[in-house]
Order: sequence, then C-alpha cells, then structure tokens
Amino acid sequence: MDGGDSCLMKILVVEDEAKTAEALRNGLEVEGYDVRVARCGNEASALLQSGDFHLILLDWMLPGRDGIELLGEFRRRGQNTPVLLLTARDAIEDRIVGLDSGADDYLVKPFAFAELLARIRVLLRRASREDPFRLQVSDLYLDLGTRQVRRGQDAILLTPREFDVLLYLMRAEGHVVTRAMLAKDVWREPNRSTPIDNVIDVHLARLRKKIDEGRDVRLLHTIRGVGFLFGTKPAATPDITAR
Ligand code: CA
Repeated sequence: MDGGDSCLMKILVVEDEAKTAEALRNGLEVEGYDVRVARCGNEASALLQSGDFHLILLDWMLPGRDGIELLGEFRRRGQNTPVLLLTARDAIEDRIVGLDSGADDYLVKPFAFAELLARIRVLLRRASREDPFRLQVSDLYLDLGTRQVRRGQDAILLTPREFDVLLYLMRAEGHVVTRAMLAKDVWREPNRSTPIDNVIDVHLARLRKKIDEGRDVRLLHTIRGVGFLFGTKPAATPDITAR
C-alpha cells in the first residue's frame, strides 16, 4: 500500500511572484495539501491538462494571460474545479468581474493565512458534497471509487466490512443508526439476534479504534440502548433508557 497518498487534496497555486508562491506552497504543505506551483498562465494551462486538482488558487495579475483570461478558458473547457481568486484589487466592480468570470470565491491581498485556509476548506467541502463518490465528515474522508479512507493526513486501513459500516454511518451522519438497521442493511440479516448484535458491536469497536483513537474530535458515538450516531457532535442523549 502506498499509504493513501492519492487521497491528498491537490492544489494548484498560480502566482508569478516567487516569494508569495513559495510562502503559499510551504504553508499549504504544512497543512497537508499536495501543492503544485505555476508561475504564469502557460505553465498553469499545461499543469491543468496533465493533473487532476481539487482546487486552484489563482492570482489575478499574471504576466501574459492574466488570471481572469485563464479562468475563462478553463471554464469554457467545462472544467469545474473550484477556483479561489487572489488579488490586490478590491473595488466592488473587480469583485464582480472576478466572480462573473467563474471564480468560486475571492480573497483580497494581503490576507491572513488562516482566512485563506478557512476559504479553502469551505470550497473543498462544498465540492466534495457535490461529488457522490467522496464523503466527508469533519476531517474523515471516504472515497468510494478507490475505497480509501483517511482521517486528516492519515490513511486508515479498513476491512471490507468495516468500510461498508463506515459508509453507512457517514451517509446517516447526525442520525441514530440502530443495530437492527446495520444487521439488515450491512449484514443482510433480516432477523435480529444476539449473535449478530455481538458481531456488530465487535466491528463497531474496531472501527471506533481505527478512526477515533487518539483524536481530539470523536466521530463515532454510542447511544446507549439505541445504537450509534456518527458526526462531530453527539445528539443530546435521547430520553430513552435501555429497555
Ligand atoms: Ca501577481
């Protein structure tokens, strides 16, 4: 196994100023992104044709074809990768031109790096929601195409059954999933029984260990007497006692 590197989010930074480009590259790599830098429009075009990026950070003012031209060409080719436009221009008309040309968001230089990271996370989250083959809950990512799972930058190896359970839980994010639901929908056991309940509990305990152990934010919660709940916030304990 290659440790799941293909799960890393790839970002293309298009920026002609060397210092800014390197600062962006370093900062984003520290955050775990896989970063490529293009220093002009032609280089960006070439990289866009060869690589599959999850997001593009695009400087407006570039030598030769500027960011807006590049963006227009990109969108006309039907590419819908999220684009965050970076620019020193701050007039309302400029923002409108930027967004009209197909940018998904707009950040005025100089900006706080923390804000850039927050905007990037929003765009990536939105894009992953629109991709039915990629699921995300908090920093846990599941890719249905490659069957890879990672939490933050860490690849998580699951058995096929654990993967199916996790997929079911992620799709039900924020809703209680009972053992009966898991037995019927994941184990294909229409009749609930103590043995299958025990099997489910063993799998859930292993899954929890793999995804939550040592993490500040726990995602897999047990609702006593009811079942399980997946998400960053456990629901207030339902007013149901085990019975
Ligand atoms: Ca520039």
